[in-house]
Amino acid sequence: MSDAGDLPGSAATSRFGTAGAPAPSPAAPGTKLQLAGVVKDFGAHRVLDHIDLDVGTGEVIALIGASGSGKSTLLRCVNLLEPIDDGVILLDGEDISEPGLDPDPVRRRIGMVFQSFNLFPHLTVVDNVALAPRKVNRMAKEAARAQALDLLGRLGLAAKAAAYPDQLSGGQQQRVAIARSLAMGPEVMLLDEITSALDPELVGEVLDVVRALRETGMTMLLATHEMSFAREISDRVCFLDAGVIAESGPPAQVLGNPTEERTRQFLQRVIEAGRM
Ligand code: ADP
Ligand code: MG
Repeated sequence: MSDAGDLPGSAATSRFGTAGAPAPSPAAPGTKLQLAGVVKDFGAHRVLDHIDLDVGTGEVIALIGASGSGKSTLLRCVNLLEPIDDGVILLDGEDISEPGLDPDPVRRRIGMVFQSFNLFPHLTVVDNVALAPRKVNRMAKEAARAQALDLLGRLGLAAKAAAYPDQLSGGQQQRVAIARSLAMGPEVMLLDEITSALDPELVGEVLDVVRALRETGMTMLLATHEMSFAREISDRVCFLDAGVIAESGPPAQVLGNPTEERTRQFLQRVIEAGRM
């Protein structure tokens, strides 16, 4: 892959107007994203139970935890795919979780990539990447195409621009999905188990893209079951258990010398499953 040092999206500038509600507690300088007291219920089931999390600009946070612990729901709430039931989510100090707020301007600033690539099967790779900038950002057709080709080149996919998704490997499709998200120029990227659907030999090429994104200074929140990757890529690991952040800290500490018994038990299960 070519040098990805100038991938778009690491701009820290706000595209909103004046701030909405003040932060519930003062965020440290350089805080990009702040979750405070975030609660999410599905019926009687409390899935996120007062989550507090500050994410600094350029910080990479790995969310780990058993299936069902709330990792995807946390990411989906940040991307406004799920309304929250209590608490507040701030982006550059502005409340983005207010009910009734138009989610589209926020989603332009916060990109999300899922386990399933969700590419449009009837569109070529380059058209998949160029579509949203054209439709949502009203970018001119040729400019959107040029940007898409540039991004695909940076992700090592130039030769696949004219192909259709089903002609690509899973790893290549996931890299296209990342390119599609980056084409909107996001300031924050949310990555939800993006290697989980891939054959083991295709995981590396996708993780390489995440490494390159990190080098650009992209703020990232990623749910992963790749513990070695979490250790390498993240500034901080948050262990979720039943909707609470049971432990968080530097990866070496949380993964290597956890203080919480439930973190230890989770890591033991990961080791037993051969995933660490
Ligand atoms: P993880 O990503 O850590 O595996 P999830 O956030 O997907 O966890 O799920 C957390 C809990 O919320 C699970 O018990 C799951 O069944 C429940 N859940 C997730 N989405 C929904 C939904 N749309 N409706 C009802 N329950 C849900
Ligand atoms: Mg999940």
